[in-house]
Amino acid sequence: MIKSKIPTFKENVNAFVLKAAKTLKLKDDLINHIRSTHSVIQVNVGIKIKNKIENFTGWRAVHSEHRLPSKGGIRYSPHVNQDETEALAALMTYKCAVADIPFGGSKGSLKIDPNKYTEQELKSITHLYAERLIKKGFLSPATNVPAPDVGTGEREMVWIMDTYKNLFPNDINYLACVTGKPIAYGGIRGRAASTGRGVEESIREYLRHEKLYKRAKLKPIISENKIIIQGFGKVGKSLAIELFTRDQAKIIAIGEYDGYLHNEQGIDIPSVVRHFDKTRSFKNFKGAKFIDKPDEILTLQCDILIPAALESVINMRNVEKIKTKLIVEAANGPVTYNADEFLNKKGIDILPDIYVNSGGVVVSYFEWVKNITHVRFGRLQRRYEENKMNELIHVVEDATGRTIPEKYKQNIIQGVQEVDLVNSGLEDVMRETFKEILKNLKILKKSSLRTAAYAIALNKLKQFHQDMGVSNYH
Ligand code: NAD
Repeated sequence: MIKSKIPTFKENVNAFVLKAAKTLKLKDDLINHIRSTHSVIQVNVGIKIKNKIENFTGWRAVHSEHRLPSKGGIRYSPHVNQDETEALAALMTYKCAVADIPFGGSKGSLKIDPNKYTEQELKSITHLYAERLIKKGFLSPATNVPAPDVGTGEREMVWIMDTYKNLFPNDINYLACVTGKPIAYGGIRGRAASTGRGVEESIREYLRHEKLYKRAKLKPIISENKIIIQGFGKVGKSLAIELFTRDQAKIIAIGEYDGYLHNEQGIDIPSVVRHFDKTRSFKNFKGAKFIDKPDEILTLQCDILIPAALESVINMRNVEKIKTKLIVEAANGPVTYNADEFLNKKGIDILPDIYVNSGGVVVSYFEWVKNITHVRFGRLQRRYEENKMNELIHVVEDATGRTIPEKYKQNIIQGVQEVDLVNSGLEDVMRETFKEILKNLKILKKSSLRTAAYAIALNKLKQFHQDMGVSNYH
């Protein structure tokens, strides 16, 4: 139990780490080293807007550089601070270690409400912020690579890439200085949906295990469970689309900052997406009731609750009212340490953020690899595979004297596309990682899925420090 009244985000993350470290009996000095932020920079960006100079404060924290580059998104929000940025950077270290992505952990933030500024103003602010980070050594394809997070997206990533390219026109790998870019600027197919799709894969994986879903009193098929999603941004929206279209999921409530939509029969997600994209709000949507109490969504009765907005939303103030069977952490840090302890005691499983939302960084890794190799995945083998498959079909038809129907032929012949490879790689990571977590859960006994996941990360980090020696330069 953390004793401070309202623990900070970093305190929560560190408490989770400590808990896992105790189960592994790691030494205090090593664990203190692993938990510490290696470097953090604060920058101020001053810019004249409507004849007045405005100042924006930002941070970039590097939690670990045991693998390079360090990786982690950039958040634009009026609520960011250094503690939050360091906590998010730490989560990136553990997330990459759990999923076996060869990156260190980092995170950036800028204290700004992006809704208050024009596109041109945001572009200038982003250029200045990126320039500060680049010039101070906190952004480059080799050492520190950002991606989108809350309040940023493909647009901001292109602006950042452009800033880097202008400063280093001779760097052939300039595209790799940032991920989550649009396809035309070196992005990768499948990145936009990757975090949501990864969350979906994590739920599928949980429901493949009889012992787990039976203990949680869930049905093994996604569509037979009532689902609630808080947050309809990049992660929440793409997750809702994936769940609805691929699993026919019954999503009974979806929430935003000003309220939520509720329909016990299930909400038609494509219709909500059209309405939300047009109006930027859930209000006046015909297919569900709008309730203007945003926090209430978390305490509705459901089978699977998916916070996909912000950290610390499930805390000691509302945890007793949570009425779900499984919590899936699509957001980073949505459950505080004390609330997590409470839910563990109650027997409610939590699929932890460092596993659940790793789809984003997994596909970012693919994008980075694509950028430094300068070739699209599937480009070399696609036609070759098609020709070979065509030949094979002819051989089968000749040998059997029968014709394979066109509808099967096309599927068999079609060579692999970039998005297929990306989705296959993503699914593989989500499935293999879950297997690892379950293996650890067995070894650690009476532990939670979160502690088992952290233990994987800590074991890998410990191994790294053992192999390398902590102060390897002396
Ligand atoms: P986003 O800015 O695209 O979306 C966040 C959404 O949450 C917004 O629509 C916002 O209006 C909504 N929101 C804000 N306050 C809310 C509240 N009180 N109740 C309900 N909704 C609220 O951000 P995102 O990229 O979707 O990130 C969401 C979470 O997922 C964050 O914790 C982020 O760190 C995490 N995450 C994102 C990615 C990624 O690839 N974008 C990857 C891993 C983890």
